Amino acid sequence: GDLPEWNEVDALVEAAYRRYRSVGDGAVADYIPALAEADPERFGVCVVGTDGGVHSSGDTQIEFSIQSISKAFVYALACQELGHELVRERVGVNNSGAAFNSVIAIELNDGHPMNPMVNAGAIATTALVPGASADERWDAVLAGLSEFAGRQLELDDAVYRSESESNQRNRAIARLLASYGRVELDPDEVVDVYTKQCSLKVDARDLAIMGATLADGGINPLTGRRVVPPGVCRDTLAVLSATGLYERSGEWLFEIGLPAKSGVSGGIVSIAPGKCGIGVFSPLLDSAGNSIRGQLATAYLSRVLGLNIFASA
Ligand code: GLU
Repeated sequence: GDLPEWNEVDALVEAAYRRYRSVGDGAVADYIPALAEADPERFGVCVVGTDGGVHSSGDTQIEFSIQSISKAFVYALACQELGHELVRERVGVNNSGAAFNSVIAIELNDGHPMNPMVNAGAIATTALVPGASADERWDAVLAGLSEFAGRQLELDDAVYRSESESNQRNRAIARLLASYGRVELDPDEVVDVYTKQCSLKVDARDLAIMGATLADGGINPLTGRRVVPPGVCRDTLAVLSATGLYERSGEWLFEIGLPAKSGVSGGIVSIAPGKCGIGVFSPLLDSAGNSIRGQLATAYLSRVLGLNIFASA
């Protein structure tokens, strides 16, 4: 890739952290009780190049539950197993324009989940992960996301329990999809695997490595192992461009120009194809559920590192 020299990238990552660390706007998510306990002061910024260079500043090794960011990587795994056409037909690629956990969007689209980054589409995607049982599907998700991160990921039990006790809405979504024949497995079992995937612990550095793997055509630049083929990365990045930042996906693409995925615990992963992955973490969110400091730091890095995919020079 053509990132600037090592020292310069290091200095710019440090600058991104310093510029925005005192921004106190936004609120920690509280609709999952365990998330309300997050420390609003935490802030970490990490860039991992496709050359394997790791540039970190701030709280890049503080773990948090991955939440919706898991959707991007489970989608890649499903595409790898089932192929572009089938996943496109079953899950869709268009922005729903509705909130991530919308039920009305499903009804308005005759039971179609719309895209893999809203909960309906993510649950439908998790249901497509091959396996003879829920345990086997979970094992495949865990192994796959761990390959993206280049280390064995683990469940945050407190978050998993908290979300399991408060996820009536996701269960309703899964049942609604099942009523339309869009989920063919037991809906509660599928939601359980989905809830586990959302409860995996990562840090900002993991996110940057996972993003760098998508940026590198599917090869994890730290382990050197192929996780998915290049075509799957291309498909995943296209979907993220249209849908990765909730209802603000268009604004994000317009301002920052990178495929990315955010989650309600405060992480954002961004991908500069051929160049790097960016992982940021700060739990203070805007009204759509996107980390405020995370968006600011990523916008800055996209600008100073010249990452906008629409820029011709
Ligand atoms: N596990 C969360 C849910 O399904 C993920 C939400 C998110 O990060 O957008 O509600």
